[in-house]
Amino acid sequence: MRTVNAALTAPPPAPGSEQHVALDFANSDLALTAGRLDLLATPADATRWLVERGLAPVGAEVYEYCAGRLRDLRSHLRVLLAARVDGAVPPPEAVDALNSALAATSSAALLRWDEPHGPYRAPAHPVDQVAVHAMAVIAADAAELLTGPDAERLAACSASPCTRFLVRTHAARHWCSVRCGDRVRAARAYARRTKADATS
Ligand SMILES: [Zn+2]
Repeated sequence: MRTVNAALTAPPPAPGSEQHVALDFANSDLALTAGRLDLLATPADATRWLVERGLAPVGAEVYEYCAGRLRDLRSHLRVLLAARVDGAVPPPEAVDALNSALAATSSAALLRWDEPHGPYRAPAHPVDQVAVHAMAVIAADAAELLTGPDAERLAACSASPCTRFLVRTHAARHWCSVRCGDRVRAARAYARRTKADATS
C-alpha cells in the first residue's frame, strides 16, 4: 500500500542531513500532521531516494526485497539514534543490523567457470548490489555519527507528531525545521493562553 500522496510534502532536510546521509536516511520515515510519509515506501521511491543522494547510479533499479531491507535497516538505525539521544543502551539486534550492513561488501566478484566462457568473475547477486552498497555507506556514516563529535548534538525533533532526528546547530533548538518550530511556538502560545484563562 502506498502511503505517499500529493497532500504530503516533506519539510526541507533536517540540520545535519547534509553532513550525514545516515541522518537523512533515518528521517525518510516521516510523521507529518497530515499523516505518514515514507520516502522508501515502494521500490520506485527507494530507488529515487538512493539515486538523488548519489548512492545508486542513474538507471539503477531496487526491487521490493531490497527496499524492504532498506526499511529494516532504517528501523534499526532509528532505534540506535533514539538510544544515543536518550543516553540508553540499544537492543543488541539494532547494533547487529548496523554491523551486518557495515561489513557487507558488494565488490567481491566470484569466480565462475562454465562452457563456453571458461573462467570469469561475476557479482554474486547483481540485483542486490545497489542496496548492499548503499546500506554499507549509510551504516558507515551512522557509526561515524554515533561515535563522532556530532553525537553530542544529536536530538529528536520535539514538535509532535514529528519524529525526525537532527544535529542541533545551537543549544536551544530542538526542532528540525521552521515548520516544526512554528508548531512548537503555537503550542506554547496556546498553553499560555489556556493557563491565563484558567487563572483569570
Ligand atoms: Zn520536526
